[in-house]
Amino acid sequence: TSAFHPAAARTRTTCGYCGVGCTLDVVTQDGDVAAVLPARDGPVNQGHACVKGRFAHGFRTSPERLTRPLLRRGGTLEPVGWDEALGHVARGLRAAIHAGGPDAVAAISSARATNEENYLVQKFMRVVVGTNNVDNCSRLCHSPSAAGLTASFGLSGGTDTFDDVERADCLLVVGANPVEAHPVVGARLLRRVLHGAKLVVADPRAVGLALHADVHLRPRPGTNVALFHGLAHVLLAEGLTDEEFLRARATGLPELTELLADCPPDRVADITGVPVADLVAAARLYGEAGHPAIVHGLGVTEHLHGTDGVRSLANLAILRGAVGTDRGFGVNPLRGQNNVQGASDMGALPDLLPGYGKVADAAVRVRAEEVWGVPVPERPGLRIPDMFAAARAGDLRALWVIGEDVCATDPDANRVVQALDACPLVVCNELFLSETARHADVVLPVASWLEKDGTFVNFDRRFQRVRPAMPPPGETRTDFDIVRTLATTMGVDLSCETPADALAECARLAPVFAGLSHDRLDREGAVPWPCRAPDQPGEAKLYLERFATPDGRAHLAAAPYLPPGEQPDDGYPLLLVTGRRWAHYNSGSMTRRGGNLALDPVDFLDLHPDDAARYELRDGEHVTVESRHGQARLIVRVSEQTAPGQVFCSFHFPASGVNHLTSDHADTVTSCPEYKVTAVRVAAP
Ligand code: SF4
Repeated sequence: TSAFHPAAARTRTTCGYCGVGCTLDVVTQDGDVAAVLPARDGPVNQGHACVKGRFAHGFRTSPERLTRPLLRRGGTLEPVGWDEALGHVARGLRAAIHAGGPDAVAAISSARATNEENYLVQKFMRVVVGTNNVDNCSRLCHSPSAAGLTASFGLSGGTDTFDDVERADCLLVVGANPVEAHPVVGARLLRRVLHGAKLVVADPRAVGLALHADVHLRPRPGTNVALFHGLAHVLLAEGLTDEEFLRARATGLPELTELLADCPPDRVADITGVPVADLVAAARLYGEAGHPAIVHGLGVTEHLHGTDGVRSLANLAILRGAVGTDRGFGVNPLRGQNNVQGASDMGALPDLLPGYGKVADAAVRVRAEEVWGVPVPERPGLRIPDMFAAARAGDLRALWVIGEDVCATDPDANRVVQALDACPLVVCNELFLSETARHADVVLPVASWLEKDGTFVNFDRRFQRVRPAMPPPGETRTDFDIVRTLATTMGVDLSCETPADALAECARLAPVFAGLSHDRLDREGAVPWPCRAPDQPGEAKLYLERFATPDGRAHLAAAPYLPPGEQPDDGYPLLLVTGRRWAHYNSGSMTRRGGNLALDPVDFLDLHPDDAARYELRDGEHVTVESRHGQARLIVRVSEQTAPGQVFCSFHFPASGVNHLTSDHADTVTSCPEYKVTAVRVAAP
């Protein structure tokens, strides 16, 4: 702070944007942010930060920031006091429970909120309401990673730390654009490549890292499973597998071998569009490397068969003996939101309690009941898409949406709006009057990540402290405070007075977090889970002795390739892929309210020059994009980054209507939407 006014204060915290989890020092002066500085000793960022973490804090003082609760009266949202707002919510929840039972109430918790807030939300739903109807937005992004990695290896997280990944001699980066979406990780990957590591990028688009790749595989959207089977076929055919590892530590090889017999490179080339030579070259790079690592993003998960994709990708690491050994660095999902890992870790899921114990498991419920003092409902609750379906059917009578603009970010947005409008009580915790808030009956103004106390878990399972650099503005409150106060209003004491208390209680309940506490994190900075005791360092690299599956072995998956939910046809000849761009973050509600908007002021529809010529479109032209589900308005950008027959746009400008285009096809295992494959056409403006 020496460069700042003597009165400036510095607060060490964790970035509230992406899942990299950069350590930041927030310098405040006169009650506002003077600067955000990347911490040199940050364990993940090592002195770096991106344009989001450093500069996208103008939202905090935006005149559009909500500072008072709003209550709908006569069709209009009007400012009211907290007692009135929470009293209305409490009465509405009681009425919903009275009319339809506890399962008539549901909550969508927030991957933006702290662990402690997520812990309290799921506890509220299970203890106060008596339902498992709680979910979080990992449903829309990495739920297939959670399901796939759990099935293959036993735990719902990446297998290695990023420090390990950075020691790899071959990087296989799949369905991810870290240069834009996770820039600090993108820079570290690039640094590794510049120091000699081989790089294979698998992505339909020519994303930033692809420029530096030894091999760039460009599969047709929706054909990942076939691509991974093709790579596995080559590993097997060319003897690039680790037979000792497969014998001693894996299961499922005969079934996979039988399946792969039908996946020769020429057949895979027909399905994916990837040339045989590229496929073989990529498999050899990965198979012959001494220490390969896999990093993947939403391009693997957001598919009709996303979980099969994750499992088929994990097959490569298992075949190669590159997971749970010192011969490689496993499979590592790049989590999108700052705390999407933590929201799931804390049990904001309809089938899992904190620490991933199943609600269906009586022993797990008993452990929670001993801590909470009430019975835990046994039946798994509703997932987010099922919540909307239940609302449309009249079965869901109250929905609490915390920090998610579901009307803008969930697929097939028209049907989400129908669901909210059909639900008798919609409560929304928000920073701004989002599209979802506009459809709510009660809107509760909340603190942002710069104004909160707690912890986040980043993409490589590190718990890190979040500290308030300043108090929240006006009458806004933290989600933690709101949940506790609402419980009290309903006559229940949730017992966790502070965020530190909440993490301590979670540590008592979930063995994998038993060694974690705020005091420890304040002393040590970051601690990975599993961490089973206060004197254990936490398991940064997983599975060195055994996998966490019931039989202790890694499980190869023999999932056949199945086509995506949508195919192009004469009516909708182009395939739309959605994703992130560098200056903005998710729905853009924070990054569009500040200086980052000047860096990236509008969204574009990227399309290949061949398609631009075919449809007689020029750079800068306004077009209407239509799918079988809706339409959006975008500006054309002619770009070779996108393959012929495909178009790309971000989801940072929801007013363009992008999620009116996307379908309700969803992963068959986890219900994760198929955002990555939508058939569209480009029409005149
Ligand atoms: Fe780091 Fe991600 Fe924040 Fe950028 S957005 S500073 S990469 S945590």
